[in-house]
Amino acid sequence: MTTPDKDTPLIFVVEDEADIARLIAGTLAEYGFRSETFGTGRALLSRARREQPELAILDLGLPDMDGLQVLRELQENHPCAALILTGRDGLTDRVLGLELGADDYLVKPFEPRELVARVRSILRRYQKAAPPSEPDGPGAARFAGWHFDIGRLSLTHDDGREVSLSAAEAALLQSLLKRPNKILTREQLIGERELDPFDRSIDVRISRLRRKLEDDPQDPKIIKTVYGAGYLLCGTVEWVTGWVGNG
Ligand code: CA
Repeated sequence: MTTPDKDTPLIFVVEDEADIARLIAGTLAEYGFRSETFGTGRALLSRARREQPELAILDLGLPDMDGLQVLRELQENHPCAALILTGRDGLTDRVLGLELGADDYLVKPFEPRELVARVRSILRRYQKAAPPSEPDGPGAARFAGWHFDIGRLSLTHDDGREVSLSAAEAALLQSLLKRPNKILTREQLIGERELDPFDRSIDVRISRLRRKLEDDPQDPKIIKTVYGAGYLLCGTVEWVTGWVGNG
């Protein structure tokens, strides 16, 4: 797909070190992104109540609160894509960040071009998760009692349960739904995205999806693990509007 210039995505950055904040803002501007920078988590969250960004770049060590808490509150109230950019490179922070719905994790010091590559990759996945609007509206899929509204990143069950997905989770679910009852490898599920050495992110997202979709996430009936091969979505998928399945 092509992205028109007028739809330049808005990126929020929270970073309390002024030099790094300037470097990030300068890099994003240089590569044509719109961004706003905040020195505290509260400032970003308060701004997000009035305007929702497509992506948030989050430092973890902030003066007023932990960046993971910022991520948690964003996911609950203003879901958007998220990239953690931090000096903390502990495995716990990485896994926790991805568990909470971050789309990627980059450790300082970083190469500005690496940051731009990650940002582009996340936004590309986000745009895939929300297909460009078509005359008959954004797509939706029905499977296993769930209704998946792709454009709104939301899932509603026939029994009334409602859950929202991060952009990365929605993109992953969409990949599974497009090829039901077929084993998909991690590489196929990652898609065009350049392979990350930390590709446990797929497994983390699968387990998050299971907690949202499955009656018993320990004994999944919808998304099955095929040991040594990948994952498989069981059952019938019905595409409701505006989206070509079996692609
Ligand atoms: Ca900091």
